[in-house]
Parts: sequence; structure tokens; C-alpha cells
Amino acid sequence: MTRKVVIAGGGLGGLAAAIALRRQGIDAEVYEKARDLRPIGAGLSVAPNGLKALRAIDPAIVDALRPRGSEAACFHLRRAGGELVATTPTTHEERYGAPVLNLLWSRLQETLAGFLPGDAIHLGHRLAGFTQQADHVVTRFENGATVRADLLVGADGIHSAVRRSLVDEGPPRYAGRLSWRGVVGLAHPSLRPRDVTMIAGTDGKTFAIFDIGDGLTFWSAGALSPEPTPSDSAAAAKQRVIDLFAGWAPPVGDLLAATPAGDIVERPIEDRTPLTRWSHGRVTLLGDAAHAMVPALGQGANTAFEDARELARYLHHHADLTAALAAYEASRIPRTQTIHARSALQGNRYYEADSEVFSRAVLERANADQNAFEDWLYGEAPA
Ligand SMILES: Cc1cc2nc3c(=O)[nH]c(=O)nc-3n(C[C@H](O)[C@H](O)[C@H](O)COP(=O)(O)OP(=O)(O)OC[C@H]3O[C@@H](n4cnc5c(N)ncnc54)[C@H](O)[C@@H]3O)c2cc1C
Repeated sequence: MTRKVVIAGGGLGGLAAAIALRRQGIDAEVYEKARDLRPIGAGLSVAPNGLKALRAIDPAIVDALRPRGSEAACFHLRRAGGELVATTPTTHEERYGAPVLNLLWSRLQETLAGFLPGDAIHLGHRLAGFTQQADHVVTRFENGATVRADLLVGADGIHSAVRRSLVDEGPPRYAGRLSWRGVVGLAHPSLRPRDVTMIAGTDGKTFAIFDIGDGLTFWSAGALSPEPTPSDSAAAAKQRVIDLFAGWAPPVGDLLAATPAGDIVERPIEDRTPLTRWSHGRVTLLGDAAHAMVPALGQGANTAFEDARELARYLHHHADLTAALAAYEASRIPRTQTIHARSALQGNRYYEADSEVFSRAVLERANADQNAFEDWLYGEAPA
């Protein structure tokens, strides 16, 4: 039986995994390197598959989240000059049993943390390494603490130290795009409750606008950049994104101007080569540590919630840890590879090398038309 689990990383994936495992009677605790639980992005879309996974972990999570965000009612597609290309009322709830919920990242993180007892989250614990024996794994932290458990889950993100000790690879792959994100409370006639607007330029630039409730708007901008050169300061990052989107129709410039420079998150878009194996003995991976993908579909956290649900399910069903981890991988690797491949295609990034990792079934599914892909992504989600 798996009784005690150490989860390295207190991001959205690690927190969800701890809740899921504890609901199965497993003593799971989170060890996070940061001194506070810090949100890493301004806003986030939780898609039907992510909400269904969270609901399967504990329906009360979704009940708590829904009033804290904005359920998308209408998707608009516009050109940079403001011309409307398409407006589509959302039908996710009717088709897939859950909406698209847009919300402040910090609210999602706080809500998940609120489902764990305070003593199950250990801040200021940066994983330094681990040692495996036949019947246990000992995790060491830089502060000198050591913890013995049946299983170590690396939920420590795209720069995962756990993954690094299992797989010999370099830094993440830069995907040729920079991103900027921000949240602002701005009254503007074109910003309406429950709207999502995607604006596409002709030069690879994109700008997405999400109502996230409480009068707040989350915006996310992307632009091609041959090198992942960071701005020198918050003020320079703000000026950079203002310059890049100069001349775009309102409310793009208004949103950028109204967002305090210090609140703008500038990030290179990166991913990792998909793996064919996530587990080695008593150690496994989850979330970005297992399958970091470009955010073209906004599926990174959503798939981490699915991982959490499935890991808990298989640890509960299989008394034998090796069998449980084999079932977890069999359930998760093909699905996340498909979402990874689709994200890369939609993000205009195709990796020749990855096609050697993906099976024919994965590639066929990843290339399906939009409706068929959404039916699979949202309709066949683990629940
Ligand atoms: C521009 C952009 C937009 C996105 N939009 C969406 C979206 O709308 N929807 C969506 O689902 N996803 C989205 N994503 C993806 C999403 O951000 C990630 O997939 C998700 O945060 C992964 O969660 P995680 O818990 O696996 O990793 P992380 O959130 O990275 O958490 C990892 C945690 O581990 C901690 N850690 C790291 N190293 C150690 C260590 N050695 N010891 C202990 N702790 C450690 C870190 O401090 C961190 O708290 C977006 C990403 C980007 C870049």
C-alpha cells in the first residue's frame, strides 16, 4: 500500500495532487521551495476537462471556484484593426458538462490550498535530491530536512529538479515567442462580462482578453522573437508590449496603459521534449515536470489536474506501487502527448524530433478537426 507521499512543488498541479491523494486516504504533503505560495501568472482558463478532473477529486472545489471566476458565455475572434471575424456563444456546459471558467490565478491557488490542512504544506523547502531503497524513498531539502515516504512526486514545474535527476536533458526548448500577461480593473465599453476575445495579427502577434469576474480583465499577449531576450525592468517590459501592439484597435492599448508595470508578467514560451516514461522506482512526475507544453491551448494546468486525479485513482486501485505507476503512465502519457502535439501545432511550432516519440494514434488525434479534437479533449476527459 502507498501510505505516505512527498510532493515536491506547491504549484497548481502539486496542490491538486495533494488533495486528490488525501481524499484516497493517503498521507500526502507538499514541499514548496518558495516562502509563500506565489501565483505565477495573472489569470488562467480552467477548461471543461480541468473542471471535471477537479470535480472528480472533490466536487466542493468546483463549487468554491465557480463564484470566484467568470464562466465564458461568448467567444469573439477579431483582427488587429478591430474587425469582428466570428462570435460564438459557448456550449461547453451543455456539450461537455462543465464550462470554461476564467479566473485570477491567485484565487485558484488559494482555493486549492484551502482544501489542505495547513500542516500539509511546507514552505521554504527546496528539494535538493533523493535516495531510493526497495521499500522507501528519502527526499532531502536544502534546509537540511529529510522526509521518508513510499513515493516522491515531482510536481516542480518546467525546470523540475526531480525530472533532471531522472532524465539527462538540457534546459527547456524556447518556442520562438515571448508572452506578457496582466490583470487590470478597467471600465471600457468593449469589455463585457463573460466575454473572451481573441485578436490575431498578421505577423504572429496575438492578444487575448478574458473577463475574470469582479470587474477584472485578464489579458495575454504574444509575439514572435528570435531570441528569448528579457526586458531590463518592469517599466521596459511594459513599454515593449505597448510598442509591439501600438495601432491595435481598442481596448488593447487601454488595457496595457492601465496595467501597472510591476503587475505585467513577461515570459518566454518554452516546452520540453515529451517523455515515454515518467516513473523510476518510487519517483514519478506530474504537471509541467512531466509534460511542459506551449500554452497555445491553455492546457498546462488543466492536464496537471487530470494527472492528479488519475494518480490518486491508480494508487487507490493498486496496492502494488509499480502497478499503480504503470497504470498512471498508460492513462496519462498518450493523452498528454496528444495535447502537447496539438498545442505545438496550434502554436505554429512543429518539432520534427517529437514525431519520433509520438505514436501514429497520437499524431492522428492531434491533427483532428477542431470539433473532433474538442469532443475528445473535453468529452473524454478523466472524471
Ligand atoms: C503565457 C502562459 C499562459 C498559460 N495559460 C494557461 C491557461 O490558461 N490554462 C492552463 O491550464 N495552463 C496555462 N498555462 C500553463 C500553466 O501555467 C502550467 O502548465 C501550470 O502552471 C503547471 O503547473 P505545475 O504545478 O505543474 O507547475 P508550476 O505551476 O510551475 O509549479 C511548480 C512549483 O514547484 C516549485 N518548485 C520548483 N522547484 C522546486 C524544488 N526544487 N523544490 C520544491 N519546490 C520547487 C515552484 O516554486 C512552483 O511553485 C500557461 C502558461 C503560460 C506560460
